[in-house]
Amino acid sequence: MSDCIFCMIANKEVASDIVYEDDNILAFRDNAPQAPEHVLIIPKKHIASLDDVSEEDSQVLSHIMLKVKDIASDLGMEGGYRLVNNCGEDGQQTVKHLHFHLLGKRKMTWPPG
Ligand code: AMP
Repeated sequence: MSDCIFCMIANKEVASDIVYEDDNILAFRDNAPQAPEHVLIIPKKHIASLDDVSEEDSQVLSHIMLKVKDIASDLGMEGGYRLVNNCGEDGQQTVKHLHFHLLGKRKMTWPPG
């Protein structure tokens, strides 16, 4: 989508601090980090939210899930990490391109706000 900031990042039309990339997914640092390491993992394909995934997206979704531990390890998250998806208005999703927040290198608290 031409007006989607994360599509622009995936297409390299907008600069980002990329930590992992392959043909189908991209991981880049959040520009308002909520932890010492905070990256966003996205499918390159535009999918608006977790509410909008279809059967045909199952491969890219499982690919993201399988890559999380490698990205976390590469970023030195030896103590663990948190993976978050905000979906829709109540979930406080602000960017309408599916993304998973990977946060680490600090002790998390629970419950989230
Ligand atoms: P969410 O509120 O779950 O939709 O998360 C969107 C995230 O994208 C926020 O944490 C923002 O800080 C982050 N963000 C928005 N624009 C950019 C950008 N150009 N580069 C990196 N992170 C961004």
